[in-house]
Amino acid sequence: MIELTQEELKQYFSEPIFGQIAETADMLGLECYVVGGYVRDIFLQRPSKDIDVVVVGSGIAMAEALGKHLGRGAHVSVFKNFGTAQVKYKGTEVEFVGARKESYQRDSRKPIVEDGTLEDDQNRRDFTINALAVCLNKSRFGELVDPFGGMADMKEKTIRTPLDPDITFSDDPLRMMRCIRFATQLNFYIDDDTFDSLCRNKERIEIISRERIADELNKIILSPIPSKGFVELERSGLLPLIFPELAALQGVETRNGKAHKDNFYHTLEVLDNISKKTDNLWLRWAALLHDIAKPATKRWEPKVGWTFHNHNFIGEKMIPNIFRKMKLPMNEKMKYVQKMVSLHMRPIVIADDVVSDSAVRRLLFEAGDDIDDLMMLCEADITSKNMERKQRFLNNFQLVRQKLKDLEEKDRIRNFQPPVSGEEIMEIFDLQPCREVGALKSAIKDAILDGIIPNEYEAAYAFMLERAKKMGLVPSQTSSKVE
Ligand code: ATP
Repeated sequence: MIELTQEELKQYFSEPIFGQIAETADMLGLECYVVGGYVRDIFLQRPSKDIDVVVVGSGIAMAEALGKHLGRGAHVSVFKNFGTAQVKYKGTEVEFVGARKESYQRDSRKPIVEDGTLEDDQNRRDFTINALAVCLNKSRFGELVDPFGGMADMKEKTIRTPLDPDITFSDDPLRMMRCIRFATQLNFYIDDDTFDSLCRNKERIEIISRERIADELNKIILSPIPSKGFVELERSGLLPLIFPELAALQGVETRNGKAHKDNFYHTLEVLDNISKKTDNLWLRWAALLHDIAKPATKRWEPKVGWTFHNHNFIGEKMIPNIFRKMKLPMNEKMKYVQKMVSLHMRPIVIADDVVSDSAVRRLLFEAGDDIDDLMMLCEADITSKNMERKQRFLNNFQLVRQKLKDLEEKDRIRNFQPPVSGEEIMEIFDLQPCREVGALKSAIKDAILDGIIPNEYEAAYAFMLERAKKMGLVPSQTSSKVE
């Protein structure tokens, strides 16, 4: 965080648009302030996006007057229902709202809204660091209005509500998610009273839509150290309410002195590991979900200990339900996450053994273009505290990666389609779609992946004829390709 004198702060409002807003406000005799995230992000030196302006009076009238003042090139959109208006000018977007006072009913996060003062407006903000305002009127240009100690909280990296947190959270329970999200994004602490209130009000989250919760979860997942958010969600008791499958990963069971690892904390470590390497939201989701079926597949086998057989496949099957419930997209993004979860054990299994060409070819075939992401996930998954074991895996992964590269250059397996198509097989043997066609196709595919024949048309064709003969299939007379 940086500290700024009023003169220095003014520099951050030197773009002409701020002067033009000030002139318009003075002309209308209205107080107006830049408020919220834009002001916070100046002090935190974060890139800011939206400029929010609070007007003590009508935000819509202010936006319309500004539009006229700016003339050609200004575009004003009015949202009467919300009492807000937006002005777009030369690539900048400014949102105007009249200062308001809000009161809430228990069953809804939609407030009853009345006109209010700047103070009323700051009272309705979620956190002290989000309630900072900078005056734009000429006589007070650049003056910071910080009624709740937002600057001090920023210095101490603290998230705190401006009012009694029970009121702030109960009025709009989405703020509980926002609280944990800001703490994670900014690497701030949650003030003790605010945190205790999260625990007390957690059940109120049920009035929040799944889409809103998913938005906040995605922001947590995209933070530099996402585990922080999930630990807070767990500590506050919110996690089982919004993501029971993840909460179920927590805990360690011991039998005959054998304990399995705590899969919740392991998962968070994997998520943090992968977050050092990629900003791909869906790869981060795959890390979060890679072991999601461990509770469902956990068994105690006396001779072996704890097992989680097929947790990758069961996990893959659980994902559509999780995505549906959470209102996450049920499209190719989900399919990608499923693929990552289902394949996440494969490189480890290969790396644990002799790294054979055929195993690597098959992996490449199944992962296709996502092979690099899959390798990244697998490396992130090595959280062993035994340094020797960890190093052995990492070395073997290097070997797998090298082999992947060599084989790809040689055989072009990635996104490979068997060189003889099903249609061609049907034509050659005069067949309708049937089991034999599928069997021949997979025999060709297996022969290529196992390195028995090269990934080439001629070789595949000859192999097919030979295999068909064994199956008692005879090429039809009309087929021109049979030699
Ligand atoms: P980000 O853009 O990272 O989400 P932001 O603080 O700009 O951060 P917005 O959601 O754009 O977040 O909100 C702008 C401002 O509006 C906030 O800084 C805060 O003052 C206020 N605000 C937004 N949502 C709420 C809410 N649910 N309750 C109270 N105040 C809110």
